[in-house]
Amino acid sequence: MPARRPIARFETVQAVRGAVASWRARGEGVVLVPTMGALHAGHLALMEEARRRGGRVVASLFVNPTQFGPNEDFSRYPRDVAADVGLLEGAGVDAVYLPTTQAMYGPGFSTSVAVAGLTEGLCGAFRPGHFAGVATVVTKLVNRVGPDVALFGEKDFQQLQVIRRAIRDLDIPVEIGAVPTLREADGLALSSRNRYLGEDERRAAPELHRVLSRVADGLRAGGLAAPLVAQGLADLTAAGFAPVQYLAVCDAGTLRPVAARDPEGRPLRVLAAAYLGRTRLIDNVPAG
Ligand code: AMP
Repeated sequence: MPARRPIARFETVQAVRGAVASWRARGEGVVLVPTMGALHAGHLALMEEARRRGGRVVASLFVNPTQFGPNEDFSRYPRDVAADVGLLEGAGVDAVYLPTTQAMYGPGFSTSVAVAGLTEGLCGAFRPGHFAGVATVVTKLVNRVGPDVALFGEKDFQQLQVIRRAIRDLDIPVEIGAVPTLREADGLALSSRNRYLGEDERRAAPELHRVLSRVADGLRAGGLAAPLVAQGLADLTAAGFAPVQYLAVCDAGTLRPVAARDPEGRPLRVLAAAYLGRTRLIDNVPAG
């Protein structure tokens, strides 16, 4: 393997901006990949895509407190900065940006990016304030780093659409790129939260992707959403998921529920969120 430059580590906005300015002055583009750390191969697929696009790659590591609800897993969210920085270096990332919570949300912080419509259903219905937290932190990270491109995973499909909307509506000059979901061999979407799963839960977990795929296949075969979703809910419950927060067939752009494929072939997405024990899993697949 060719020798790689050691990864640069920035903790202040001045430092990361300075590096980005010097790369820009040399005509190099910059790709930002925001993460909350606890990195796995799904995150590394984003880094690979960032490198493929050329220029410099900056990954951010920030467990954003404002996107967690009061009873969610903020305090137990897995954190291992040293391991994460090692993985990023191995993936050929140029710089890691590690803002502190105090610097991101200083005294008197009062502003929030609220995206209407797209945030009302699906995860938004169960995680009040979550997407405002996400849209606000992504807006801040993009404004701090100033990349040409920011990359996100389709794994968090509603998040991706919310970010696209906020960036477009607020005229923020950055291209948003999407990377398909990386899965284990049995179909389970890679997630930092998979490490919470016990052995039996891990065995049951791939049923989420199988159910989504069956609904998508049924829609492609001309089936109606309602009976496919009803069967899918029964299958998830039988596999031990409880509660199932939602299983929905939506227009991929608006995320509004649809009854079936339409003759114009608008892209659809099948999305779900469900608990296995204490662990909340989400996943989604395209449906034509
Ligand atoms: P997180 O650290 O969970 O906030 O995720 C950081 C980024 O990685 C987000 O854009 C996620 O959508 C993306 N991501 C997480 N898991 C996967 C996966 N299995 N495949 C592709 N992208 C992913």
